[in-house]
Amino acid sequence: MLGPDMAAGNYDAIVVGASFGGLAVARQLRGHVLLVDRNEVGAVQTSACGTPLWVPEALGVAGSVLQVHDRLNIRTPSRTVSYDLSAVPFCTFDYKAFCQGLLAQTRARFLQAGVTGFADGAVTTTEGRFTAPVVVDCSGWRGAVVKGDAGGTPSGNYSFGLETRTDLSDEGLWFLLDRKLIPQGLGWIFPVGAGSLIGLGSYAGRSKLRPPLERLLRQEGVTAGAYHGTYFPNRLLRATVGRVFAVGDAAGQCLPLTAEGIRPALYFGSECGRIVQRVIDGQITLDAGLDAYRRLVERYRGAYRLLQRVQWLASHTPTRWFAALTALAARHPILPRWWPRYGWFGRFDRAPVPTAP
Ligand SMILES: Cc1cc2nc3c(=O)[nH]c(=O)nc-3n(C[C@H](O)[C@H](O)[C@H](O)COP(=O)(O)OP(=O)(O)OC[C@H]3O[C@@H](n4cnc5c(N)ncnc54)[C@H](O)[C@@H]3O)c2cc1C
Repeated sequence: MLGPDMAAGNYDAIVVGASFGGLAVARQLRGHVLLVDRNEVGAVQTSACGTPLWVPEALGVAGSVLQVHDRLNIRTPSRTVSYDLSAVPFCTFDYKAFCQGLLAQTRARFLQAGVTGFADGAVTTTEGRFTAPVVVDCSGWRGAVVKGDAGGTPSGNYSFGLETRTDLSDEGLWFLLDRKLIPQGLGWIFPVGAGSLIGLGSYAGRSKLRPPLERLLRQEGVTAGAYHGTYFPNRLLRATVGRVFAVGDAAGQCLPLTAEGIRPALYFGSECGRIVQRVIDGQITLDAGLDAYRRLVERYRGAYRLLQRVQWLASHTPTRWFAALTALAARHPILPRWWPRYGWFGRFDRAPVPTAP
């Protein structure tokens, strides 16, 4: 709960959403910054939390890593293709530990409140109204500020994922391509140390995934724990709306095909935070900051389009053709040509871990 001085105060910046995108922005900011989320930081996990190992390492939260993965296996009804990830290994991590670790690196004031609107330069929340020259929307696919928390079912451009925790222990990450299980989408098994997260994702945004997921669990001989799921974008949207910056799923930055949204939210969030700090310091105007961020995101539009095309192939071509393509991509010397480029996307080289306030 904020004290009266903070409740009344104007901020240098307001960051809405304290998950991957919001925390990445906030950890770059000094000054009078308000970080708002309707939930406690790290309390509500929506993701399987798979990302390259270098990500938690570069961000100083390596303690959150649960399991390291050197192999990615793609299982189809006719064959299994295995990718050697050792050039850029992946990991699965503990969401709460990861987010709490990033929160400890920020100087922002955290307020647990739901954002209900944005009008006349003020962010309205369940705990009051706050103003700042800079507002960054990192509230996920709903875009509480940039879309006005329209809620409901999104139309087009969104996939849907549902997963559950099981006690299946395994090695490596698994993607499952099987039209009988899910016609336009994929399944996954992501081991997390003790147990695995098993889920299904629909590129077509179909949200009734529980019956097919239960079929998959029966097939694997495991029982479900609690389920969680939500929409996530599969098309790059706009980076700014009016004078508001958008980061992560609120800007459609989740990668098509692989549904990797953590790394883009962290990368674009870090870059956005750097730009916002320059605005706060008076080095550039807000308009120049918005323009710089838009231009940075636009540089990646071609890569997003490419992944979108491959996602289309995955959901529209016969699975055995796509399996043949993935087998080709897993071969030497082809794999070393593209895997490190994909795996190192969004390197945080230039983002030294800030010292705690
Ligand atoms: C089932 C599933 C599995 C996935 N697995 C992976 C994976 O293994 N690896 C990967 O890279 N990506 C994965 N993704 C995608 C990834 O989870 C998202 O792309 C990523 O979480 C986006 O981060 P974000 O910070 O933009 O948004 P989010 O993580 O969605 O965070 C948004 C934050 O905003 C807050 N918020 C929302 N509305 C309001 C409001 N009105 N007021 C206040 N606060 C608000 C929320 O409480 C939340 O903390 C998965 C997605 C799903 C659905």
